[in-house]
Amino acid sequence: MFDKLTLSVLPDEDEALRPALREIIAGAVAAIPLDRRARSWQGFDAAFSRLLGEAGYIGLSLPRKFGGAERSPFTRFVVVEELLSAGAPVAAHWMGDRQSGPLIAHYGTDEQRAFYLPRICRGEALFCIGMSEPGSGSDLANVRTRAARGDDGSWLLNGQKIWTTNAMHSDYMIALVRTSGTSADRQSGLSQLIVDLKSPGITIRPIVDLTGDAHFAEVFFEDVHLPPEALIGEEGQGWKQVTAELAFERSGPERIYSSVVLIDAWTRHLRAVGRLDTATLRLLGSLTAQLAVLREMSIAVTARLVAGESPIVEASLVKDLGTEFEQAVPQLIGDDLGAHPDEPTDNVLYRTLLYLTHVAPSFSLRGGTREVLRGIIARGLGLR
Ligand SMILES: Cc1cc2nc3c(=O)[nH]c(=O)nc-3n(C[C@H](O)[C@H](O)[C@H](O)COP(=O)(O)OP(=O)(O)OC[C@H]3O[C@@H](n4cnc5c(N)ncnc54)[C@H](O)[C@@H]3O)c2cc1C
Repeated sequence: MFDKLTLSVLPDEDEALRPALREIIAGAVAAIPLDRRARSWQGFDAAFSRLLGEAGYIGLSLPRKFGGAERSPFTRFVVVEELLSAGAPVAAHWMGDRQSGPLIAHYGTDEQRAFYLPRICRGEALFCIGMSEPGSGSDLANVRTRAARGDDGSWLLNGQKIWTTNAMHSDYMIALVRTSGTSADRQSGLSQLIVDLKSPGITIRPIVDLTGDAHFAEVFFEDVHLPPEALIGEEGQGWKQVTAELAFERSGPERIYSSVVLIDAWTRHLRAVGRLDTATLRLLGSLTAQLAVLREMSIAVTARLVAGESPIVEASLVKDLGTEFEQAVPQLIGDDLGAHPDEPTDNVLYRTLLYLTHVAPSFSLRGGTREVLRGIIARGLGLR
């Protein structure tokens, strides 16, 4: 399984992007307090996404003909790494850039590509992902939302989605729906539809999470009419398409950097208070070493994407290890600060720690739960 997981270096032409990109990001994040930067994935800033789009940093791997840059997954690695390590607000363009754009490029018709991709690349068409439903999160094959096809080829959509990140700010949802059979048929009979969220019959209700943020939503469809061209890819092939889409979603560097602004802030705190004892250096060294190894593994997975392969098992492995690291960081840094109660800790460091401690459990849920990923890894090893 690991015969191709050799460590790779990023190409010079991709590394060369960093200085200009850092300048744009620094301009945008300088005024954002650290605890808001820790929200990076959830940080919704449509103006920043349009700025990135204008500068050519969205849709990097999409065809030039449709507004993309036709560059390699390494290019995207560099851009995503810069954005997340600075805690830039990426939510507005995130789904379109990571999932919906590649999906449309791969399975869409030329008309769909021409309509959606240039706007995704400009950071103008905002997408959300409608997979989960009450009763089918990990078990996506159990999806019950149904689209019935009329004689004229149009669709009538009924059902409910849940945990839809940023549905209330998005223009479109790519929904996984049942177009034939029943949920007992499992994977067969599922399709993907592009739903214009302004269509009549759609109700979007934000869900407030325990940090007080509302980035999720419930989405209800009541007799929503969609045109024939809402179908993306082939009718009945939704399962195959979604599996491929989740592979794009899991294979990037995204699963390593969620707590990284806290490591930076804690390091600054250590410098400020002048704490350099052995236990502190051991913890700092251990976090740095883990981060470095995970980054190398993530680059190795990216190299396989560059080679045109689909490293589903390795991507699952890096996601599982990466989220374990992201979850450990707030706990270890919290324990460390708690063990030094006399040190002056600035409020923003404290708020960042608090926020990450609250959301860390979600890191191993979003994009596929830990148990489900381990099932994929076990299958890859021939154990299931
Ligand atoms: C921050 C965040 C953002 C999200 N954004 C989106 C989004 O934009 N769009 C979207 O569609 N969904 C989204 N989700 C939903 C997410 O993908 C689901 O929550 C997730 O897949 C789990 O589904 P569930 O909550 O229904 O839990 P369940 O599937 O009910 O799982 C409950 C528990 O049982 C375990 N389990 C389930 N099945 C198995 C199995 N076969 N073997 C072993 N253990 C199993 C799970 O690992 C979990 O621990 C998001 C979730 C989070 C946390």
